[in-house]
Amino acid sequence: MSDSRNWFESVPEARVRRLHGAQRHGVCLQLDGRELINFAANDYLGLSFHPAVQQAAIESIKAQGFGSGASRLISGDDPQWHTLEMQMAAWKGYQACLVVGSGMLCNTGLLQALADRHTHIFSDKLNHASLVDGARLSGAVVHRYAHADLQQLEKLLMQHTGRRRIIVSDGVFSMDGDTADVAALLKLAEMHDALLLIDDAHGIGTLGSQGKGLCADVAAHPRLVEAGTFGKAFGSYGAFILGSHELIDGLRQRLRTLIYSTALPAAVSAASLAALALVREGALTAQLQRHVALFRELASDLPLMSSATAIQPLMVGEDADALAASARLREAGYFVPAIRPPTVPEHTARLRITLSAAHTQAQIAGLVRALREL
Ligand SMILES: *Cc1c(COP(=O)(O)O)cnc(C)c1O
Repeated sequence: MSDSRNWFESVPEARVRRLHGAQRHGVCLQLDGRELINFAANDYLGLSFHPAVQQAAIESIKAQGFGSGASRLISGDDPQWHTLEMQMAAWKGYQACLVVGSGMLCNTGLLQALADRHTHIFSDKLNHASLVDGARLSGAVVHRYAHADLQQLEKLLMQHTGRRRIIVSDGVFSMDGDTADVAALLKLAEMHDALLLIDDAHGIGTLGSQGKGLCADVAAHPRLVEAGTFGKAFGSYGAFILGSHELIDGLRQRLRTLIYSTALPAAVSAASLAALALVREGALTAQLQRHVALFRELASDLPLMSSATAIQPLMVGEDADALAASARLREAGYFVPAIRPPTVPEHTARLRITLSAAHTQAQIAGLVRALREL
């Protein structure tokens, strides 16, 4: 039985996940010899192929080569990481920032550093896998509350008292596109003496008047820790944690995914800095928000889920139907993935459409026509 060839049980056909091997060119995707318009990237502002972002990375590679050679705590700590951390903290309105390898590394390390087996973690049932795994790794007692159910959360907070408690939530929920009520969560954190961790991976760069995301109005609150990624709206790679000086200082000592992992290439920090400058201008975020409004207006008769973000899922139901719909869209020239269980609950398979500032209005209108023909 201990043979690699029969180690895993086979996955039913409608559940098989595929790596597509697709080449991106801007908002287009070259797949099986065909050019498709990509409605499946988290590159919400089109920054991954913005000339200024490309140029920053190219110049850094020419000057410094590529790989960083070591962990940031050994010799991989390029000064640009500190510039990026200072600029992120200043823009987001926090005392301090720490940059880590990716959102997955960020959250698994962060919860492991913040919590131990004496800690209670209160976690929204739809939280991203990285938060779920981080909570598990920490050994904390985990209480999951029904998605966005603040009454249940409050009940759990009253039942499970203890010295150290953390409420954990996505900002924008990645498969539904809806958002957490950050102000209400923070109020509960204050009333029940808990810390609040918001992972706004999909909100930063896309929401709010300046793209500062869902925590814009409560930034620097002493109970709040915010996390986000450079892999989505910033079109780059890596992730960041925002909070008080004391918190970030403590994390530099304890964040295992920072300490025991090779630093990102300096070229990635150069790209992220260039992207941040473009995000701060605000025009791309405004363009994305216009595209979201246009899509929702054009598709108002379709079974869209209630989402005001760049993630616009269309509910289908059964796995096979979602796969068939995705295949037909592909024939029409659009790449829109079917999202199926276990990523989402049973019988809620859906098409997950993500919009970008880099799409044209004609591309968005074309997608809506193809959706209507399904
Ligand atoms: C995408 C995502 C992550 C992971 O970020 P990466 O930088 O892609 O590893 C973490 N949390 C949430 C909520 C996400 O949507």
